[in-house]
Amino acid sequence: MAAAGVERWLYPTEKGLYCEPGDFYIDPSRAVSRAIITHGHGDHARPGHQAVLATPETIEVMKVRMGPEGARSFEAFDAGTTKRIGGVDIRLAPAGHILGSAQVVLEHNGARAVVSGDYKRQPDPTCAPFELVPCDVFVTEATFALPVFRHEPADGEVRRLLNSMAANPERTHLVGVYGLGKCQRLIKLCRQAGYDGPVYLHGALVELTKLYQRLGVDLGEIGHIDPAARSTKSGRSKDYAGALVLCPPSAVDDRWSRRFSDPVTSFASGWMRIRGRIRQAGVELPLVISDHADWPELLDTIVATGAEEVWVTHGREDVLVYQLGLMGRKARALALVGFEDEAE
Ligand SMILES: [Zn+2]
Ligand SMILES: [Zn+2]
Repeated sequence: MAAAGVERWLYPTEKGLYCEPGDFYIDPSRAVSRAIITHGHGDHARPGHQAVLATPETIEVMKVRMGPEGARSFEAFDAGTTKRIGGVDIRLAPAGHILGSAQVVLEHNGARAVVSGDYKRQPDPTCAPFELVPCDVFVTEATFALPVFRHEPADGEVRRLLNSMAANPERTHLVGVYGLGKCQRLIKLCRQAGYDGPVYLHGALVELTKLYQRLGVDLGEIGHIDPAARSTKSGRSKDYAGALVLCPPSAVDDRWSRRFSDPVTSFASGWMRIRGRIRQAGVELPLVISDHADWPELLDTIVATGAEEVWVTHGREDVLVYQLGLMGRKARALALVGFEDEAE
């Protein structure tokens, strides 16, 4: 019954999930004196904290996104090492979500809680794989917690992209991707599938991609779209005919994209499982590539941790809590504020 005592030392507050004996928050939604950050996405890593504890990679991501002043002080904490703060033993374990992403493993009074942040179980060549940590309380996300969400193996989706490029050699392939994680994973997956041409990036994707390269992820030849390039008189530039171009999802369909030659528009996201979302995105080639656990992965992972209690953070908490109840598990929604429908 170790799980029953955890809520006395780890509980949600209006600033986020708080560990009382250690006096720190995990992924708080407001500026706090001490925060442990699971990964660099905006709804988890916010600016203005006094002290941030995170993996070295997450700290680098935070500095690129918010400048060195993103926190008063940063303390790098390698995955796998242990640290004791106020009688709480803390360890970071890889979450398999994006480069640097970690689960926070907390042990206190003979009980172990794991705050997983965002995670996935599919292989990802740009980050360390998810480590399953047995625990009494497992805190899980629920971004894709609906039975309809089943992510295909990503290599098959990438194969569809490369096949489309081969079949349409005159057309630019323009793929919307989120700038942190998805962009670099998609490039790497294309490399693994044998594509060795240049991959061109929208300016908004450049800095984080350079960071991945600096941190040792080999992404091959990266080109940048010349911001000064204009469409030709006919309204189309031939420059990028047949090229693979990545951009933020919002740029697929705006003025920026008009420079390309009859583009095949695409979007790589777990949301591409849903017809309405494909229609909304207005893309020709939807690719179901996600950095989050899908429905079976969520349930399998939760069961495999052996957790007596499951606390659910952001996404479809209601559905996941209900399903876990059907499976005879004790589950509750944490109702933390500040997490949006994950942009991914
Ligand atoms: Zn995330
Ligand atoms: Zn998230």
